Amino acid sequence: MEPFVGKVALVTGGGSGIGRATSLAFAKKGAKVVIAGRTREKIVETQEMIKNLGGEAIAVQADVSAEEQVREMIQTTIDQFGRINFACNAAGIGGKLAPTADVTEEDFDRTLAINLKGVWLCMKYQIRQMLKQGSGAIVNISSINGLDGTPNAAIYSASKSGVVSLTKSAALEYAKSNIRINAICPGAVHTPMLEQVFNITGVTPSQYESKIPMNRIGDPNDIAHSVTWLCSDETSYITGHIMVIDGGVSAG
Ligand code: NAD
Repeated sequence: MEPFVGKVALVTGGGSGIGRATSLAFAKKGAKVVIAGRTREKIVETQEMIKNLGGEAIAVQADVSAEEQVREMIQTTIDQFGRINFACNAAGIGGKLAPTADVTEEDFDRTLAINLKGVWLCMKYQIRQMLKQGSGAIVNISSINGLDGTPNAAIYSASKSGVVSLTKSAALEYAKSNIRINAICPGAVHTPMLEQVFNITGVTPSQYESKIPMNRIGDPNDIAHSVTWLCSDETSYITGHIMVIDGGVSAG
């Protein structure tokens, strides 16, 4: 069963973690995949993984915080595959961990440029293309840190709150144009980004897990499967939704 045969999916941050798992999940459902990211070797690695599954994919190097590179990323997608049915904007950084008064202007600007401006720029050009096609579905990756305060990660948290409101606003703007826009707020997920948090803070995975009702850290596939579901016809009446996937953490 390959429900996405003939469809094209674009995934930013596709070279690792959630973006890589999402690229593979789209490919397994039959979509042609555009894997975008900043580091060429990592996105080419994901492309090879998809080829080994018998799928079709291209790797497009792009920094999501640079408008011209985002515009070119979309143009390359159209030149190669002719359309964009689905987009998952997963590229992001954790930023430096520090209390608010110790954050530098440089770190603030970098975190917002990638996590918030980057999602907006990607949506801007994805939506323009989807308007031409008359349909499309976008899933942005926010975080549970975007729903509450996060000590020592205020700027990351603020950038992810911004993704929530960007998602809802754009969903309202394009609901009548047959473009659905949703966001996922993951809790802790096993990826290189989380590894970095463990290394910096000295917190161990088992200490982290003891605070999660389901007693485990999420797998990137836990997020990837929900991204593909939110792009599928099974969710054709869902837009502007913020889906929390956190093993129960925010239920308490
Ligand atoms: P990751 O570090 O494995 O993946 C992030 C990817 O984004 C990397 O491949 C990186 O190269 C790419 N990237 C970074 N800056 C970029 C830029 N300017 N242009 C293009 N690509 C860029 O981490 P991940 O955990 O898979 O993160 C994916 C998304 O999920 C992020 O937005 C992150 O904030 C979010 N998230 C992760 C967790 C978690 O626990 N891992 C929890 C909540 C939200």
